Amino acid sequence: MLILSRISRLRTTPRSISPTWVAVAAMLVAVSGCVRPIAVTQPAAPPVYTSSDYIVLRLDADESASHLAGRFLGDSGKAWMIAEANPGARFRGGEQVVIPLKRPNKAGVYADGYQTVPILTYHRFSDDCQSPLCTPTAAFKQQMRYLKENGYHALTPEELLAFLEYRQPLPKQSVLITIDDGYRSVYDIAYPILRENGFTATLFIYTELIDVAPIALTWNQLMEMKQGGFAIGSHTITHSDLTLPREGESKADYAARVEKELTGSKQIIDRRLGQDTWMLAYPYGNYDQKIVAASKQTGYKLAMSVKRGGNPFFANALTLKRDQILERDMATFTKRLKTFNPIPLK
Ligand SMILES: [Zn+2]
Repeated sequence: MLILSRISRLRTTPRSISPTWVAVAAMLVAVSGCVRPIAVTQPAAPPVYTSSDYIVLRLDADESASHLAGRFLGDSGKAWMIAEANPGARFRGGEQVVIPLKRPNKAGVYADGYQTVPILTYHRFSDDCQSPLCTPTAAFKQQMRYLKENGYHALTPEELLAFLEYRQPLPKQSVLITIDDGYRSVYDIAYPILRENGFTATLFIYTELIDVAPIALTWNQLMEMKQGGFAIGSHTITHSDLTLPREGESKADYAARVEKELTGSKQIIDRRLGQDTWMLAYPYGNYDQKIVAASKQTGYKLAMSVKRGGNPFFANALTLKRDQILERDMATFTKRLKTFNPIPLK
């Protein structure tokens, strides 16, 4: 809305633009320093308005937000910036659209509140669930369809990290989908549903489970999902609580166990999937200061609890909050999708 009101103030009668308007636009972008220079082909019609912040364009023909993003911002993945600047637009020929040339604020902070990123957590899936940790196939389908139909973006962990490090803005309606443990139903049920909706997820596996039983994922399936854009993080080796010594466990044995769970699981996943694993979900969501410090030292950059709540840009990346999706009804699910925390910041 801010963009639209600024544009309506700025808008004048259509100007005749010199034939080299494209070069001018490219120069303005270069001056803004926020986006890569544009490689564009000259459109038939000149823009209605240009500034270092925006181009206002009347579309000659239908043109998608991702095509416009590729043409003006040098990256079709930035389609959301154009979609958010043109609420309700259908991007049809003759329609006037705004191309924002500068990135929106990286922190997602506005006068009336700030952006938060919900992280959804699942475990396993079945047509016939007996436990709250199991999500019925039909409910998962409905939830993913809801996310798609309501314009949610399923983030990659890299995008979330960039937001938390104040490097990149995120689409306003962003969520991270995570699935813990490493059950076979992730591959059989969740993976095709997620793909159908164009989503990817982050899987946290405890390595001892993988390949051992028919209910578990295999390394081959994990590799296939990784190649399909899914991210794989550690949930330790044995899924033991890292914050508590076991009964009769000496201090030294406890320290050795923590080290092995954090480092060993990373090494196994690194080797099996040919990657540098940098995401962790604490078993049972439990952590304390020494576990956070040890995780950081091991090389984890994102680590997740199961404390309920969203994650603003200033959240600690090593103690992220997540919402376990335990209920099946849509009203509870939609309540978990809070992407904005309203608070007067003037
Ligand atoms: Zn778990």
